[in-house]
Amino acid sequence: MRSDPKEYELVAPRSLQGAVGLLARNPGEWLPIAGGTDIMVQYAAGKLHSRKLVSIWNLPELRSIEVLADEIRVGAGCTYTQIREHEMLGREFPMLASSARWTGGIANQNRGTLGGNIVNASPAADSLPALLVYDTELILVSVRGERRISYAGFHTDYKKTKLAPDELIQAVCLPRRFSGYVCHARKVGSRTAQAISKVCIAALGRVAGKRIEDVRIALGSVAPVPLRLSETERVVRGKAIDEALVSLASKTAAEEIRPIDDIRSTAKYRAAVTGNLVAEFLNLLSVDGRA
Ligand SMILES: Cc1cc2nc3c(=O)[nH]c(=O)nc-3n(C[C@H](O)[C@H](O)[C@H](O)COP(=O)(O)OP(=O)(O)OC[C@H]3O[C@@H](n4cnc5c(N)ncnc54)[C@H](O)[C@@H]3O)c2cc1C
Repeated sequence: MRSDPKEYELVAPRSLQGAVGLLARNPGEWLPIAGGTDIMVQYAAGKLHSRKLVSIWNLPELRSIEVLADEIRVGAGCTYTQIREHEMLGREFPMLASSARWTGGIANQNRGTLGGNIVNASPAADSLPALLVYDTELILVSVRGERRISYAGFHTDYKKTKLAPDELIQAVCLPRRFSGYVCHARKVGSRTAQAISKVCIAALGRVAGKRIEDVRIALGSVAPVPLRLSETERVVRGKAIDEALVSLASKTAAEEIRPIDDIRSTAKYRAAVTGNLVAEFLNLLSVDGRA
C-alpha cells in the first residue's frame, strides 16, 4: 500500500439524504465510495487524491431493482451479482446481465456497482455499451432535488461526465421496449475472466419484411467514451442484409471509431475486431431476425 489510512476520513451516513447533505456542504470535498473496487485500486497505488470519503455502500435507496410498467429501475448501488441474478433483467435486458457476468471475478461482482462503473467513466467499462443501446436514463439526486437525464451524452470526454460534484446517481432506468429485438453482446479480451476489454460490443436489431427496421450498435474501448455507431446504423437501417451490406457496415464501423494504441491493444487491431463484431451481429440478425 502506498497510502496511509491515517490521512483519510470515511463517513457512512444511514440515508441518501445524509449522503447528499454531506456532498452539498463543500461540493468536491467529499468523494462517494460505493463498492470501492475502483477507488481502492487508486488508494493502494497512492493515487487517491480525495482524503474525505462518504460511503454510499448499502444505502437502501440505492440497492433495489424495481420493475415498473414501462421500465426497470436499477438502483445505482446494485452490484453485478444482483444484476446477473435478477430474472426479469436477464430476460428483458440480457446484454446488461451478460456484462455483469463477465465483469471481473465473483468477488468483484459481489462488490462492484453499476453506478460506480458509470461514474468511474472508463472507456473500457463493460456495462456501458449495453446502457447506450437500451436508451437508458439516469436519475441524479442532490439536495437540490432530482433530475432525469439520458445516459447518451453523460460521458462528455475521457473520464469526464455530466455529474455535478454534489450529485449522486440514484438509479438507472431501462425502458421495457426491446423484448422483440435480436441482441448480440461480446467482450474481446486477453482471457474470458478477469480481463479488461480490448473491444466490447452491445447491439440490438429488428428485421421486418426482410429489411432492418431498427438497429442500435455501441462499442467500448474504441474511443475516449463508450460510442454509439450512428453512421453504421444509418448505413444499414431499412436495408436487406446481404454480403455487400455486411461488408459495407464492417468498413463503416472500423472508420467510425476513434481507437488508440495502449497497453492492451493497438488501434489497428481494435478497428479490425470492430468490423468483425459488426459483421457477426448482422449475420446473426439475418438468421435470428427472420425466426
Ligand atoms: C480486479 C478487478 C477487476 C475488474 N474488472 C472489471 C471488468 O471486467 N469490467 C469493468 O467494466 N470493470 C472492471 N473493474 C472495475 C470496477 O469493478 C467497476 O468499474 C465497478 O463497477 C466500480 O463500482 P464500485 O461500486 O466499486 O465503484 P467505486 O470504486 O466505489 O467508485 C468508482 C467511482 O464512482 C463514483 N461513484 C460510485 N457510485 C456512485 C454513485 N451512485 N453516484 C455518483 N458517483 C458514484 C465514486 O465516487 C468513484 O469516483 C474491475 C476492478 C477490479 C479491482
